[in-house]
Amino acid sequence: MQYEKELWASVLNILEKEVTAVSFDLWIKTLEPVEIKNNEIVLVASSETAKNQCLKNHSTPIRLAVKEVYKNIDSFNILSPQEKDDHLKDVAILEERQEKEYSPLCNFNKKYTFDSFVVGNSNQFVYAASRSVAENPNNKYNPLFIYGGVGLGKTHLLHAIGNHLSLTKPDLKVLYVTCEQFTNDYIDTLGSNKKEKSLLSFREKYRNLDVLMIDDIQFIASKIETQEQFFHTFNDLYQNNKQVIIASDRHPRNIATLSDRLRSRFAMGLTQDIQKPDFETRMAILKKKAQEERYSVDDDVITYLAEKLNTNIREMEGALQKTYFYANLMGKQNASLNDAKEALKEVFESEAKAVNPENILEKVCRYFNVTEDDIIGKSKKKEIVEPRQVAVYIITELLDLPLTSIGKIFNGRDHTTIIHSRDKISDKIKTDNRLKIAVEDIKNMVLKK
Ligand code: ADP
Ligand code: MG
Repeated sequence: MQYEKELWASVLNILEKEVTAVSFDLWIKTLEPVEIKNNEIVLVASSETAKNQCLKNHSTPIRLAVKEVYKNIDSFNILSPQEKDDHLKDVAILEERQEKEYSPLCNFNKKYTFDSFVVGNSNQFVYAASRSVAENPNNKYNPLFIYGGVGLGKTHLLHAIGNHLSLTKPDLKVLYVTCEQFTNDYIDTLGSNKKEKSLLSFREKYRNLDVLMIDDIQFIASKIETQEQFFHTFNDLYQNNKQVIIASDRHPRNIATLSDRLRSRFAMGLTQDIQKPDFETRMAILKKKAQEERYSVDDDVITYLAEKLNTNIREMEGALQKTYFYANLMGKQNASLNDAKEALKEVFESEAKAVNPENILEKVCRYFNVTEDDIIGKSKKKEIVEPRQVAVYIITELLDLPLTSIGKIFNGRDHTTIIHSRDKISDKIKTDNRLKIAVEDIKNMVLKK
């Protein structure tokens, strides 16, 4: 990465001499490389305007400078910040697809099995239900609806069911798709010029299955037509005694715009949550991962990580890997507690820094699509007052700040106003589910869960 940074710095050095100082400062300097692929470098600009300026007025010098520094690159592409997010998502999806070198009907990650899943208090019921479905599909639990926070093992369990079925009942047609894939499959039929035919093949693909697993169903919330399609797919399968398994980051009642019809379909089977792992389970998971990946780490590294990280198992794995790689880089075969502390210093520091009033305000604004000036300002409009109160509420929840300091953030409002805002939201979320979800989502954004 350091090397990458240096290369890019050389490109900027060249460009600084090629364009006017103003253009350089305003537009060029803000460019950052995000990816290099197929002889092309992908850059991200700080705004849509910066992107357009660079493309319109400076594309020749940029191309030449890039070519001079990165010998094998002959073109570049600039994305706006929004496009960057979409692009990264696309890349992730593509990579995920490419990772699965199996046929579409047997696309299970071989690492995710029941054997590699550590069972503890937090997940024993969901584990039992998944096993039961894997051993006996379309028997008792149909649909099986698994829900719980990010990185707690939902996808792992779906693949474990898939792996188990492909071993024990290889004749069954079992398909795992993410909500995204299902949606894209459906959207593809709409764009096709033989619409009837492609809708038919979409139906065939999904309705001839014995077991359908659909992951991250919460993303169906914003897609009404896809919900409709899923509803029909679900009904067909269900009526033919085929098994449906669904995973979601939240309970169906908390998927904001899920149609009531689908919600009641989901409730026909078993809805089972997966909780955050307790300390012992976290220790056991980390030990297992270290063994599987053949990371040699001291016991107190495992304890340290299990103490420091308690919400997301994927993050725990990442921290373990980081620690081990760090030790390796230092020429050691074995990672010690000190290595863990050094390797993760920045991660923990930046996490601690992320929870601050500015960040909370930013996330609240982004969520409600209002500006910080609005929130801090005096407007009494409902669409401003509520975000303002939510911001106050989340700040009081996540940070231990005196009320007067919070008042200062909000343009010097006094502490009684702060108390009023806080209490208003804490009352309202008891009855207003939409608001409760909003508050949870924003908190998760701030805490990066
Ligand atoms: P989710 O789908 O809930 O966001 P994943 O299933 O992708 O989470 O799990 C994240 C990572 O944590 C995966 O690498 C998975 O193998 C691991 N993991 C989660 N739960 C367990 C568990 N109980 N035992 C072992 N590994 C687990
Ligand atoms: Mg998942």
